[in-house]
Amino acid sequence: MQTKFPLSQINDPNIKDANDILRSCVHCGFCNSSCPTYLLMGDELDGPRGRIYLIKEMLENDRPASPVDVKHLDRCLGCLSCMTACPSGVNYMHLMEYGRRHIEQTYRRSFFERLVRNFLGVVLPNPKIFKFMLSLAVIFRGFKKFLPRNLRKTAHYVSNLKIQGKVVTPNRYMPISKHKYRVGMLTGCVQSQLNPEINKATIRLLNRHGCEVIVIEDVGCCGALNLHLGQKAKAFKHIKSNVDAWCNEAERSKLDAIIVNTSGCGTTVKDYGHLLREDKKYSQKAKNISLLSVDIIEFISRIGLRGTSIEEKLTVAYQAPCSLQHGQLIRDEPLELLKACGFEVVVPNHEDLCCGAAGTYHILQGKLSEELQTKKIKSLVECSPDIIATGNVGCMIQLKTSETNILSFPVVHTVELLDWGTGGPKPPSMN
Ligand code: SF4
Ligand code: SF4
Repeated sequence: MQTKFPLSQINDPNIKDANDILRSCVHCGFCNSSCPTYLLMGDELDGPRGRIYLIKEMLENDRPASPVDVKHLDRCLGCLSCMTACPSGVNYMHLMEYGRRHIEQTYRRSFFERLVRNFLGVVLPNPKIFKFMLSLAVIFRGFKKFLPRNLRKTAHYVSNLKIQGKVVTPNRYMPISKHKYRVGMLTGCVQSQLNPEINKATIRLLNRHGCEVIVIEDVGCCGALNLHLGQKAKAFKHIKSNVDAWCNEAERSKLDAIIVNTSGCGTTVKDYGHLLREDKKYSQKAKNISLLSVDIIEFISRIGLRGTSIEEKLTVAYQAPCSLQHGQLIRDEPLELLKACGFEVVVPNHEDLCCGAAGTYHILQGKLSEELQTKKIKSLVECSPDIIATGNVGCMIQLKTSETNILSFPVVHTVELLDWGTGGPKPPSMN
C-alpha cells in the first residue's frame, strides 16, 4: 500500500512503524473472509482491510478521529484472525494499537462512554476493587430485566460471575519431583479472582513436572485491558511494574520461564519488548521478559507431559482462544496434550472464529458479541462433548453466560484437564 507520510511525521518511531506496516499490505482482501465482524456485517469498513485504510487516513493526514473511524475500529475484536489469514505478514495488532491510541488522543467520546471505559480501565486490572465490585454484582440480579437491551447483556454477564474458592497468594511453590526449573507465573487480575482453580491447577501441574513456581506480589495486570482501551499511560505503568518485579526476581536467581495461563495476557507479555522498545531504561529488560514468557501449554509441550492417568472415556470439545491460536500461533499443542492425557478431542466448526469475549468487547459491543457467542455455542453443542476446554478465562465466561443459549456442559481451562490427567483432582466445575 502506498503511503505519503511527511518526513516530520516519520521521525516519530510509532508513525514510522505504522508506515512500515501499512506498506506491507497489498490490499488483496484475503483477510476479510477470516474476520468475524466482516462476516457478520458484510461492510468493508468492518473488515481488516477497511480498518487498515481508516487508520492510514487518520495517521497520514494527522487528523482527529471521526465518528466513522471510531465506530468501525471499536467494532474490531482484536482477535487477530486477519493476521493468520494475511499472506503478506501485515502486523495488524501493532497497527490497531496505534489506531486505538490515536482515537483516545483525538476523539471525545460521549460522557457515558468515557465513564464506562474509565470504569473498566480502573476496576478490571485491580483485583481488590474488582473483587469488591463482584460482591455488589448480586444487586444486578434483581434489576437486569428493567435495563435497556445494551446494558442487559452486561448486567447478565456481571450477575453470573462468581468468586470461586481462595485465590493463589504470592509464594514459592516447590516441585514434588526432582527440581528442574524455576519459573515465574502471572496469576492474572480478572482470572485470579473469577476462577482461582485455574492458577491452582497450573501450579500443581508445574510442581509435578519439576518446576519451582514463583508468584510475586508486585506482579499485577499485564496491561492488556488498558492497552485495548487505548489507555497507554495506564497500560505502560502496569507493564513497567511487572518488568521490574520479574527482572528483580531473575537477578536473585535465574528464571527459566515466565508462565502465563491466560492467553490474552500472554500475547501482551510477549509483546512487552516491542511496546517498550523506545524506552532507554526498559527496552532491554522488557525484551528479556518477553523472551522468557510462555503460555502454560507451550511450556508443558516443550518440557514433555509426564504421568498420564485419566481412566474415564471423555470427549473434549476444544475451543481455541483467538489470542492463543492467532496471537501466539499455538494451535496443535493443546490438542496433542489433551489426547496424550487420554481424552478424545473434537474441534468445532469455524474453530478459528472468535466467541465474542475479546477482553472488554462483550461489555462495550454487547450485540455483536452476543451474535458471535450464539454461533460459537451452536458449533460446540453440535460436537456433543462431555466437556468444553479452552485456554482463556474470558472465553470460559463467555460460553457460560449466554442469556439465550444455556450451555449444559462444563467449561474448563485446558490446564485443569492436564492437571487432572496427570494425577491432579477432577476440575471442581465437573462435579
Ligand atoms: S490479507 Fe494482508 S495484505 Fe491482504 S488486505 Fe488483508 S492485511 Fe492487507
Ligand atoms: S482483529 Fe479480528 S475483528 Fe479485528 S479486523 Fe482482524 S479479524 Fe476482524
